[in-house]
Order: sequence, then C-alpha cells, then structure tokens
Amino acid sequence: MAVVETILVVFDFDHTLIDVNSDTWILALKPDLKRLLQRRSGVCWTDLMNDVFAGLFDEGVGPEAIRQCVEKVPFHDDMKKTCSLLARAQNINLLLISDANRVFIDTILSAHGLDAAFDKIYTNPAEFDESGRLRVSYHHTHACKRCPKNLCKGTVLKDYLKDVSYAKKIYVGDGKGDVCPCLLLDSPTDYVLAKTGFPLLEILRDPDVGFKGNLVPWNTGTDVLEFVYKEILRTGAPGVRF
Ligand SMILES: [Mg+2]
Ligand SMILES: [Zn+2]
Repeated sequence: MAVVETILVVFDFDHTLIDVNSDTWILALKPDLKRLLQRRSGVCWTDLMNDVFAGLFDEGVGPEAIRQCVEKVPFHDDMKKTCSLLARAQNINLLLISDANRVFIDTILSAHGLDAAFDKIYTNPAEFDESGRLRVSYHHTHACKRCPKNLCKGTVLKDYLKDVSYAKKIYVGDGKGDVCPCLLLDSPTDYVLAKTGFPLLEILRDPDVGFKGNLVPWNTGTDVLEFVYKEILRTGAPGVRF
C-alpha cells in the first residue's frame, strides 16, 4: 500500500453538510405525504422515498418544483466556507458519502457554488424519468449487518482506502449510518467530528462499539471551520498548501 502524505476529509450530507434532512425537507411541498415515511419494519428508507417521489408526481409536483424546494435547504455559511477552503487546498481529498440521492445533492451543491468541491460523491443514484417522476435506487449491495441494505458507508470508505493511506483522516457526521465508516478511523491522527444531540456521538462514546479514534463533538458549521483551521491550517500538516 502506497503511503502518501495527504489528508482525507469525509462529509456526511443530511444534518451535517446541510442543517436538515433533505428527504424530509421535500415534504414541505406536500405535507400529507409524511404518512408514507412512517417506518415500516424491514422496508428500506430508499424504498419509502420512492413512494414519496411517486406521491409528489401523482399530485402534480414536477422536477422544477422539487429542485427549487431543495435549493432552499439551510446550509450554514461556515460549512460552505469549510468546503471551499478544503476544496482549494492542495493534497486534501474531500469525499461526500450520503444516503440522500444524487439529484438532491447535485442541486444543492450547485445552488451554493460547490459543484466541484468534492473529489468523489457516493450516494444513491437518482434521476427524473421521462414523465418527470424522480426515481432513486440503491447505491450498492454489501454484506454489512449494521447498515441499511442500500448503503454501507463503511464498505464505501474501505474500498476507497484500498489503494491509498492517509497521514490524517477526518470524518464529519451525525447519524447511525456514519458509525460504520467512523470505525475505520482508528489511528491517533484520525478525528471523527460527531454532531451534538445526534446518534453518532452517543454510539461512538459507548465502549462496546470499539471506536479507537479521536472524537470531537460539534454543533454548527463554525465549529467545523474552527477545527479545520486548528487541525489542518495552523499545524501546517505535511504536504498541504492553501
Ligand atoms: Mg446525516
Ligand atoms: Zn456498514
């Protein structure tokens, strides 16, 4: 395995990069469709979202209305600043791994001028079909018992790390789906930034889970930006130029 002196920063999307869950944000268009998201045991969230998108289509909500709705998701200025800063830096690789969908992510990043910020985006493929209905499909299949059947972020990250190792890895997340990849951040130079009041922080604090990296709680994009300044900029991490 080739060791390179670079930094990897991985972001989750919902409630991390953006301040809300984009999948539930879209219900503002037709709040009565909320009933379709009542968790049914054994039914994958991606399938529930396809039901929501079918419902929006049946009620005459077209692609433009959906795009305009998601463009309005709250996105903290300092989180945007963090992304732009990291994207401009030499020798930092920036990944987005999300259980949302490609249409929402591309629309939101583009609305905030961050189209090219991420080196790689891993999420559930999605597109509007010829009739204008949004359809989302599973990102992949995997064997992980911890994760939903459409996406194991740990498997995604493990595959990504197969050919390269980083001097420092940073993961910014909030939810249960972020646990699996965070368990791969086990070196003393690795950091997980876990959002206060969300499941990831409590789960990683449980000694039975076996998390061995550094855990840093955060609340807003300002905390993440300050961490990036302190941990990457001011310490002059090797090989990183802004
Ligand atoms: Mg999240
Ligand atoms: Zn997993």
